[in-house]
Amino acid sequence: MDVRKMLARLNPAVCRFDIGRGGIPEWTPQDVAAALGMVPAGLGRELLCAAWWPDGARLSHRELVAALERVQREEWWRREQDMLHAMLAVASHHGGDDLRRAQTLYASAHSNRWPSWVEDIELGSHNTKYLRMRAAVVAELTAPRLCPDCAGRGEIAMKSGVVKDCGKCGGRGSVAHTHAWRAEQMKIREDTYRKTWAGPYEWLFDYSADALQKAQRDMERALQ
Ligand SMILES: [Zn+2]
Repeated sequence: MDVRKMLARLNPAVCRFDIGRGGIPEWTPQDVAAALGMVPAGLGRELLCAAWWPDGARLSHRELVAALERVQREEWWRREQDMLHAMLAVASHHGGDDLRRAQTLYASAHSNRWPSWVEDIELGSHNTKYLRMRAAVVAELTAPRLCPDCAGRGEIAMKSGVVKDCGKCGGRGSVAHTHAWRAEQMKIREDTYRKTWAGPYEWLFDYSADALQKAQRDMERALQ
């Protein structure tokens, strides 16, 4: 059973395709909606809706955007705190190993630090690149880029007739968008993306993909 196909039944346009395939669906839209209700609220559930139930997701788009901003800002804040702690450690070292420890702490916090959250202190305006990044991550997760090798099937038929998992996408059927695509979504140059933004972007993408996968499993369990 695939929860994604289950959720797609809640979309009227997709329901028509289901009827075409014949047979009475084992699950009614009410069952599916009830199972969705068993998935804990949060980023994962919002992403699950956004990916497979666009009609429903429209109702909670604001929750999705807010949940995503919250995790992103908290992570930024955590890294700023590491920076501050390291700076205080260097400022109050007792020499020798203590200083070296503080310097290592500082070097690591510095390399893990993300770009400023605030673009203009006077105006109090937030860095719009984080906002565009959130939109791009949602776009990537809800409309994945089909794998060019297997065209989204996730498997490849060998000349011998044996079918094996596609090596390029690892059987997922989709591949990550390119650096160029991500840079374009964020309205920055590709080299700027690679140098400054790839880290924060990949962090948010991985975090969101994990949340989506977890919500998917929760819903599978609820439907059993
Ligand atoms: Zn593939």
